[in-house]
Amino acid sequence: MTDRANQPTEDRTTAPEREHLVDRFGRVHRDLRVSVTDRCSLRCTYCMPEAGVPWLPRATMLSTDELIRLAGVAVSLGIEEIRLTGGEPLLRRDLVDVVAGMAALPGAPEISMTTNGVGLDKNAAALREAGLTRVNVSLDTLKRETFIELAKRDRLSDTLAGIEAAARAGLVPVKINTVLMRGVNDVEAPDLLAFALEHGYELRFIEQMPLDAQHQWDRSQMIIGEEILGWLRPHFDLTPQPDEARGSAPAELFLVNGGPATVGVIASVTMPFCGTCDRVRLTADGQVRNCLFATGETNLRDPMREGASDEELAQLFRESIGAKLPGHGINEPGFLQPPRPMSAIGG
Ligand code: SAM
Ligand code: SF4
Repeated sequence: MTDRANQPTEDRTTAPEREHLVDRFGRVHRDLRVSVTDRCSLRCTYCMPEAGVPWLPRATMLSTDELIRLAGVAVSLGIEEIRLTGGEPLLRRDLVDVVAGMAALPGAPEISMTTNGVGLDKNAAALREAGLTRVNVSLDTLKRETFIELAKRDRLSDTLAGIEAAARAGLVPVKINTVLMRGVNDVEAPDLLAFALEHGYELRFIEQMPLDAQHQWDRSQMIIGEEILGWLRPHFDLTPQPDEARGSAPAELFLVNGGPATVGVIASVTMPFCGTCDRVRLTADGQVRNCLFATGETNLRDPMREGASDEELAQLFRESIGAKLPGHGINEPGFLQPPRPMSAIGG
C-alpha cells in the first residue's frame, strides 16, 4: 500500500482527494442518470399510456448548456459515469452536443445512453465521435405484431437497425434491456437470448416495476426473476456468477453455456439491490432524484436560473443524497408509487 504521507508534496497539492457523494448509509454515488427529455417515439405499455401524456412544458426543460453545467457539478462531486436516458434521448436534436459537452468535462466521465434504438442508425457514428462509449437498447420482442401490441408503434425494424448501427459504430458492449410481460412476450425469452448470443449483445431481463403512468402495475402479473430463469433453463445452461462480478451493478449475472457470454436478471422488485445503489438522477426539468422511487425531488433548475454558483448547486446535490432512504420500499405496506412515471424520471 502506498504511504500517502511519504508522497512528494507536489502530488498531494496537484491531485487533491476528490469529493464523493456519500449518503447516511455509506453508499458512494458514482453514476448519474440524466433524463434529457420526457418525450418518446414509442408507448411501451409498462411505461406510458398510448395517448394523453402530459408532457413537461418546454420552458421548464434544461437547455444544452444547463444540462452540461449540472453534469459538471455532479462530476466535481465524484460522478464517474453519466447515462443519458428519458423518455427517448434520440428525440433531442442537440443530443450530439450534449454528449460532446459532457464527455469534455474535467474528470472525463464515461458517457453512455439507454435508448429504444429508433433513429439510432442515423446517429450512432456521430454520437460515438462526440464521446458516447456504449448503449443499452430496449428490445422486448422480435415479432412485429408483438412490438405493435407492446409499444403501440410499428417500429421493430427501426429498433433492430439501431442496434446493428450501434454495434457497427463501436458503441460496445451493446446491452439489450428486456421487460417480460405475462402472455405478451414471456414466451420469447429464449429467442431473445439466442438473438443476443448470435450477435454478441449482452441481454438483461428487467422485472417490471410500478412506474407506469397509468398506475396499472399488478404484482401478481409481474414476471419475476425466478420465472425468467425458468423460461431460459430448458434451453441454456446457466451458471450463476459470484456476487463480486456484479459490484454495484443491479444485474444478477449467469454464464450462458459455459461462457464467455452472460445473461443478466435485474430483479429490482423481488431482490432489491438498494444496499449497493450508487445512482442519482437528474430529470429533464432539472430536478435531482435520489431514487427511482423517491417521492421528493430537489429543484436545481430554478436556483441555477436565478444565478446560483456551482458550489451552491453542489450543496443541493449533497442535500439530496443526504436525504436518501435505505431502500425503495416497494415491498413494504404503505408503498406509494412516485407521481412521475418512468418516462419522466429516466430509467
Ligand atoms: N426510451 C429509452 C428506452 O426505452 O430504453 C430510455 C428510457 S426507458 C424509461 C429506460 C428503461 O426503462 C428501458 O429499458 C425500459 O424498458 C425500462 N422501463 C420502463 N418502464 C419500466 C417499468 N415499469 N419497469 C421496468 N423497467 C421499465
Ligand atoms: Fe419510451 Fe422507453 Fe418508455 Fe418505451 S420504455 S415508452 S421507449 S421511454
